[in-house]
Amino acid sequence: MIIGSHVSFGKDGLLGSVLEAISYGANTFMFYTGAPQNTIRKPIDIKNTLEAQKVMKEKNINIDKVICHAPYIVNLANNLDEEKYKFSINFLKNEVARCEEMGIKFLVLHPGSSVGIDREIALNNIVRGLNEIITTDSKVMILLETMAGKGTELGRNLEELKYILDGVLIKDKIGVCLDSCHLNDAGYNMGNFEAFLEEFDRLIGIQNIKCIHINDSKNEINTHKDRHANIGFGTIGFENILEIVNNEKLKDIPKILETPYIGEDDSDKARIYPPYKFEIEMIKKGEFNSNLMGDIREYYR
Ligand code: FE
Ligand code: FE
Ligand code: ZN
Repeated sequence: MIIGSHVSFGKDGLLGSVLEAISYGANTFMFYTGAPQNTIRKPIDIKNTLEAQKVMKEKNINIDKVICHAPYIVNLANNLDEEKYKFSINFLKNEVARCEEMGIKFLVLHPGSSVGIDREIALNNIVRGLNEIITTDSKVMILLETMAGKGTELGRNLEELKYILDGVLIKDKIGVCLDSCHLNDAGYNMGNFEAFLEEFDRLIGIQNIKCIHINDSKNEINTHKDRHANIGFGTIGFENILEIVNNEKLKDIPKILETPYIGEDDSDKARIYPPYKFEIEMIKKGEFNSNLMGDIREYYR
């Protein structure tokens, strides 16, 4: 099983991400090249990157399965502000270049939000933007994430994703990243993942799935909320999550946890702990730990 979690980008680059992933017992990981909520980015530190690649080799982390995630605030869907739209395109061109510099093959992108314009126009904006960003000589594949459909988000169903994928000219540089929480919230039953995969295969083709975000959901199916829950502590449930991660057809696809830190909901957020080491252990064992939160607090105390 290729499994890891979201990790932070080190102060000096990728090495910090690799070391964090190793501390969770992961064999892959996902990172942002800076803060997820802004677009301030430093140039890639080559020395740090080489060191990160060396450690990955030593620890059997296949760099071809490592995932980069673009910041949430770039939006290719809305072009009411032509400057902002152009900024998003340029930012993503640079993000692709940064991935290439580090040897990262996949960049996950939220398709965007239409905010006040027609959804079909918004989808066409995304296609147009992607066709500017994706070039034949690019070594990076952009993965469109399945979204919960919160607000005016696009990519809330497979038809919208298919529409974008169909419009992208260079087909071997575009793919899909599933997110189990988002799919649940968008109205897809994660209790019958096999049926979902069949529908996906019929519409888009299962070979286009390159990454899966494994999250439980704090909300019921079809609520369009997008609030991640810890594995086994949400409405999808542990057994259904196991069915997804152990699916034979997706066994070579990296599984990435983006579950909330423990203590995030506490009134004082003084102490918060990453759940990933324990969630990865639980998933690998295939046995639900109802005292997960307690064990995590105990371990990091
Ligand atoms: Fe995402
Ligand atoms: Fe996600
Ligand atoms: Zn989400």
